Amino acid sequence: MTEEEGEEEPLEAPEGVRVGLCASCSNAKTLETKIGATIYLCSLAAKDARFRRFPLLPMVACEGFERRPDQP
Ligand code: SF4
Repeated sequence: MTEEEGEEEPLEAPEGVRVGLCASCSNAKTLETKIGATIYLCSLAAKDARFRRFPLLPMVACEGFERRPDQP
């Protein structure tokens, strides 16, 4: 890159793309780490072994998905 081109801001995918369904699911809980990262937990994991406590993201299909009322 030349000086004339300047520095480019790194592109970051929107939350819904990085996280998938968990980003808009009423069964998801989030934790913030000290470095500002967001960790997603699935509350269904406590009562149903089909679900992982820490879902593999991005979640593209899930039987337990329930859209939060505040999500379009
Ligand atoms: S039910 Fe599925 S979509 Fe919802 S938080 Fe758990 S893993 Fe994510």
